[in-house]
Amino acid sequence: MMYKGVIIPGEEIGTTEEYIAGNGTFEKDGKIVACVLGFLKIDENERRVEVVPINPPSTIKKNSTVYCVVEDLKQAMAIVEVISVDSKIREIAGTTQGAIHISKISQKYVENITSVLRIGDILRAGVLQSAPTIQLYINEPHLGVIKAYCIRCRRPLVRKPNLRENTLYCENCDRVETRKIADDYGNVVPDWKK
Ligand SMILES: [Zn+2]
Repeated sequence: MMYKGVIIPGEEIGTTEEYIAGNGTFEKDGKIVACVLGFLKIDENERRVEVVPINPPSTIKKNSTVYCVVEDLKQAMAIVEVISVDSKIREIAGTTQGAIHISKISQKYVENITSVLRIGDILRAGVLQSAPTIQLYINEPHLGVIKAYCIRCRRPLVRKPNLRENTLYCENCDRVETRKIADDYGNVVPDWKK
């Protein structure tokens, strides 16, 4: 049994020839696709893949930690969708769309928002305000991008020891991109194992 990184809804995690589609996944055209945000769990003995949800907070309230996907980037803010695995939470919260102001992204000054975030990135963020609008922040070491995708080929970017801070690498394209990453990028472990 092993856990292999963070998976987002819609991500392909294998084929039905290789594996049995377990919880948190569905089958589509012979492929196994994740339907929740969570950790990929592979049971090699049973040949079963599963996505175990990242535990979301029961409500989006001030000072809680949430996981979200970057949906849009404006000049001075990122628009994100707070991901919850429990559809009831969405109903209670009313809205799951939040914003991160450019001044709340990094401890350093950010001139261009696309140098720190990109659409599709998965973030761990803190809640600054939950009403009337959800305002989030990631300007702390443990907050920020926990998974990012190459803007060219959409494969997950990796961290490399020889690269500068907040720089990620695409092994497929042999190029680098920058993000405001969380300190455990590439090594995120389930909350319930801590
Ligand atoms: Zn690439």
